[in-house]
Amino acid sequence: MEHKTFNIIDFHTHPFMDEFNNICSHTAYCNMSADSTKKTFDGLGVSRICGSVLSTASKIAAAERTYSSVWERISTDNETALKLRDYYCGFYIPGFHVHPEHVEESIAEIHRMHALGVNLIGELCPYIYGWKDYSCDAFSAILDEAEKFGMVVSFHSMGEEEMDKMVQDHPNLTFVAAHPGEYNAFMRHMARMKMSENYYLDLSGYGIFRHGMLRHAIDEFGAERFLFGSDYPTCNPAMYLGGVLLDDLITDEEKEMVFSENAKRILKL
Ligand SMILES: [Zn+2]
Repeated sequence: MEHKTFNIIDFHTHPFMDEFNNICSHTAYCNMSADSTKKTFDGLGVSRICGSVLSTASKIAAAERTYSSVWERISTDNETALKLRDYYCGFYIPGFHVHPEHVEESIAEIHRMHALGVNLIGELCPYIYGWKDYSCDAFSAILDEAEKFGMVVSFHSMGEEEMDKMVQDHPNLTFVAAHPGEYNAFMRHMARMKMSENYYLDLSGYGIFRHGMLRHAIDEFGAERFLFGSDYPTCNPAMYLGGVLLDDLITDEEKEMVFSENAKRILKL
């Protein structure tokens, strides 16, 4: 099947330097490394990847690591993201974590990352770092600071009402929600897209495999509001690539926007 060649940015990944931060559930069968990540994406024609480094409870237990606080764990993961940025020489655009139980530290981290040229927060995965309310005052204070620096906040979908409030309270902040989800969740994402023109959706995780989902979304809001993402290494990026590239309901111009134009615009690349 003939198709146009696109510039492709995977907006939603969780890269790793070694096994500790590799969140794939089938690592024994994948022979993965920091170098194989680059090869995998090269092979798919993906030129850049974005996202945060994660440390899961099971990996921490297996490595018998201990942290004095969740902030120490977050700092370590953010530091790994910066190391990976250097290692990959432009291939990887790092995203960093913040935490509502550590407002001062999170605000200082926003200042530090801004000075280092990082303007992407997340993907935030509260379920991994022990918090759960996007609408709480402490997180709102962190978002106020992110807004001052024109940062982009990528977040795992969680709690419909809480997400509504977060977005309504920060209409000028650029949000990228992760995972369209099943029908009801997808409809709620679209309702939030009406609440703020700065609310975007990345296509990783559940949802895109439902036929017509992307056409429906683009017809309602335009292709400007959607970003290609896979959630590698949890998910197989080839599946997500095919889901956009081979979707004959979507025009080449729309694919261009979803694959890279929108990411370049909001991340100011
Ligand atoms: Zn993710």
